[in-house]
Amino acid sequence: MERSAFDALCHGEEGIAAVYEKCWAIARNLWWSWQPDVVRLFRDIDPVRWREVDHNPIALLREYTPETLSYRASELVLHSRINHAYRRLQEYLTNTHTWAHTHAGVLGSKPVAYFSAEFGLHESLPIYSGGLGVLSGDHVKSSSGLGVPLVGIGLFYSHGYFKQRLDPSGYQAEEYIESRVDNLPLTPACTPDGQACTVRLQTRSGELLAKVWKVNVGRVVLYLLDSNVEGNKPEDRELTSRLYGGDERTRIRQELLLGVGGVRALNAMGIDPGAYHLNEGHSAFATLEAIRLRREEDGISFEDAMRDVSNATLFTTHTPVPAGHDRFSNELIEEHLGPLRDALQISHDHLMSLGRVCPDNHSEPFCMTVLGLKASRRANAVSQLHGHISRRMWRALWPQREEVAIPIGHITNGVHVESWLAEQMQQLYDRNFPVNWKSQMGEPHCWQSIHNVDPGELWETHNTLKNLLFAFVRRRIAKQNEQRGEQAENSEAPFRNCNPSILTIGFGRRFATYKRANLLFRDLDRLAAIANDPQRPVQFLFAGKAHPKDEPGKRFIQEIANLRQDPRFVGKVHYIEDYDINVCRHMVQGVDVWLNNPRRPLEASGTSGQKVILNGGLNLSILDGWWAEAYDGSNGFAIGKGTSHVEDRITDDRDAQYLYEALEREVVPLYYDRDKDGLPRAWINRMCNSISTLAWRFSSHRMVMDYARVAYVPASGGVSCSF
Ligand SMILES: *Cc1c(COP(=O)(O)O)cnc(C)c1O
Repeated sequence: MERSAFDALCHGEEGIAAVYEKCWAIARNLWWSWQPDVVRLFRDIDPVRWREVDHNPIALLREYTPETLSYRASELVLHSRINHAYRRLQEYLTNTHTWAHTHAGVLGSKPVAYFSAEFGLHESLPIYSGGLGVLSGDHVKSSSGLGVPLVGIGLFYSHGYFKQRLDPSGYQAEEYIESRVDNLPLTPACTPDGQACTVRLQTRSGELLAKVWKVNVGRVVLYLLDSNVEGNKPEDRELTSRLYGGDERTRIRQELLLGVGGVRALNAMGIDPGAYHLNEGHSAFATLEAIRLRREEDGISFEDAMRDVSNATLFTTHTPVPAGHDRFSNELIEEHLGPLRDALQISHDHLMSLGRVCPDNHSEPFCMTVLGLKASRRANAVSQLHGHISRRMWRALWPQREEVAIPIGHITNGVHVESWLAEQMQQLYDRNFPVNWKSQMGEPHCWQSIHNVDPGELWETHNTLKNLLFAFVRRRIAKQNEQRGEQAENSEAPFRNCNPSILTIGFGRRFATYKRANLLFRDLDRLAAIANDPQRPVQFLFAGKAHPKDEPGKRFIQEIANLRQDPRFVGKVHYIEDYDINVCRHMVQGVDVWLNNPRRPLEASGTSGQKVILNGGLNLSILDGWWAEAYDGSNGFAIGKGTSHVEDRITDDRDAQYLYEALEREVVPLYYDRDKDGLPRAWINRMCNSISTLAWRFSSHRMVMDYARVAYVPASGGVSCSF
């Protein structure tokens, strides 16, 4: 019997089209990406292709016709799973009994416009580089979960951030791969009259155009501006092709598009935000366009319009180093903001003063963070410690105030539990937690039940995840070695003694130098003694990209990757190439310990360690960023005492000592201290403490609830509440 005839017999002709349409409807909303059963559904269609297409369901489905898909679904008995997933998505989209419905009703009429230069939602949509993007992605997902009306505004980078490969000498090579738009969950955004939305921006050197894409993330819509349109000069068509590529001029043009273009796009689509949330300074120009609109609307003065916009705006700063903030010259500002300034009827000096700490200092460039702070009534840092640092850093903006009265509060970052939690762990929680625990993930009581879980069950689950991580690492390293032209024999050997029963410590993040990826390697002999202890061995997994222009960062990578050739570290230190959301997810779900050793106080928050908590891993970290407020002596490990020396070399030497001591005296002994059943009781106890005290606090559900209470609701005219 022919395929389609067979299928028609089973499901009717209508069934064939329906199965296909339902799969596409699911694939077009990134909601699928945090539903483990739906991820499994796509994987089951073709496990090999699923991996090859980078877990991208659209790319996978494009390889099927309605008939071939329906045949495959019959073969694997997927119909009821497809129907179930589709029904759950529809229920999710129409459910109005959300947290925001009860607690943030005032937002109902006008959404929050959330601006960010990057969004890290899933590995198959590569428009992020690191923590800032993943934070934005998690913010959007939790807003969807909580029912907070929010629209995201970002840029579509057709070549994304680079793919990383190491050459045979261990040096990073960067490759930019163009995404095919028809392989991504993007559709053209439309204006109310059904036309494709386009944005026009005037500059002194010509017009800049952009089209707008729409991405569905659960109940939230994300809009992405894309300069690759006809009518733009060839160099402008490339403007949004790469994330953090190019020079100052590229940067200001991208930021013009994001901020001014973003507000224009919303206006063109008939979206009138009740509040603006600027996630980092890149989008601060949005305030200027919002002021222009406000003036146009009511004919009020610049000052009055600026006050109104500021009342509706929240600015989040992420960078505790002065050099990390975007600054632009007079010339670049005049070239790009000149026409907008004309419309605002303010002088060049006036405009420049909005981006200067000292308004009359003509040699001071225009700083995006300063504009963000001046044009928003509310501002926040991303951890308690970062709040202190930010108030000190920007106190000159409020010369009359004491440092404690500087109006920058803090809301500590968190992570989207459903995106980072392993399915096996989720099942353990499902069995042991209150039935509706998922709707209370941001509440403390929800996670207390971990103390009732059988320690053996928790340990076994953790070890299952660790085995999955090792399978992943083996696969990736074999592929890397093959690409580098190394012998299969050589690449297999190190894994013979790569054993999941060995204490495994992970480190994955951008190789920005302040994160000190090489701190562990300051004393190789001491480290070798720790790693090769015959009774209590330790192994390390490293991953991370260095910015293409960061030579020291690239040398760190080389140093670490080449340790595989050092006889003291064969099979002990593994470097996994091309760190992204996928690599991160595998690592945080399977490691015993997550290492974080930034130079304090430069890590504003950090979030990767928060992902580890959910899966039963323990943090071993400098008391910086989120860990400074999270560590209580029994829920992980601290490196040092939360102090730094004015001289970096001394700080680094000391912190390396603290790190070795923590490993030798605390981490290793605790891990290998087993009872008669082979269980590390004290270790498991620490896992439970980590989960019960930290999982809710460092979830993005808690974070978005804080943003709603402290900023979104008051900015939209609701009852005020302070940090
Ligand atoms: C979570 C995450 C980060 C953030 O890492 P930190 O250095 O801990 O802030 C960076 N990159 C990716 C891919 C992530 O998933």
